[in-house]
Amino acid sequence: MHGRDLPWRTTRDPYHVLVSELMLQQTQVSRVVPKYAAFLVTFPTLHDVARARPSRVADAWSGLGYYARARNLHALATVVTDRGRDATSVLPSDAGALRALPGVGAYTAGAVSSFAYERRAELVDTNVARVLNRVFAPELDRKSGRGQKRLWSIARALLPRTGAATWTHNQALMELGALVCTARVARCGECPVRGVCATYAALRTAKGVRRVVR
Ligand code: SF4
Repeated sequence: MHGRDLPWRTTRDPYHVLVSELMLQQTQVSRVVPKYAAFLVTFPTLHDVARARPSRVADAWSGLGYYARARNLHALATVVTDRGRDATSVLPSDAGALRALPGVGAYTAGAVSSFAYERRAELVDTNVARVLNRVFAPELDRKSGRGQKRLWSIARALLPRTGAATWTHNQALMELGALVCTARVARCGECPVRGVCATYAALRTAKGVRRVVR
């Protein structure tokens, strides 16, 4: 399986990774790609965001919808840069510290920690939750609080030993959910993890069943 060639995959700049992750929440990849590039031209650093009026940040966000994300980004920038006074400050690398910032949930914290800093941080978004659910715990209701907790603990247990390997591992899990084990169809025939997948094993014993949609 080959990953998609997306612009935020070639950077380790924490601010760039954060912007991409915020944009990708609730917005399709194809719409995010041009907006991501344009936003970084207008606001090259977190410090630039902090020093701008919130309305300017919202303007640069136009077309993406869900403007709370732009407001949160501005609030976060003002916190991290001491209201724009500190141009040298950067986002923290620890997922727990990232979590404490405005608008940063568990997934975004894990994504910035792993994708920008190559830390051993787990992350579970909708795609990853579906894959882990189908591979390891098909009986689990992934939308329940208990199910979510279990999926996060599975994600933690699966992390490779190094941060660099974790970067690749997390990217691969997300690609698997986006391209192969999708919400609409499970392409088990081309899936690299079918040898360990509980859902695939169950399907092979249930003759005639080819698709998994849950
Ligand atoms: S084998 Fe099928 S159900 Fe299992 S992870 Fe792969 S695509 Fe999804």
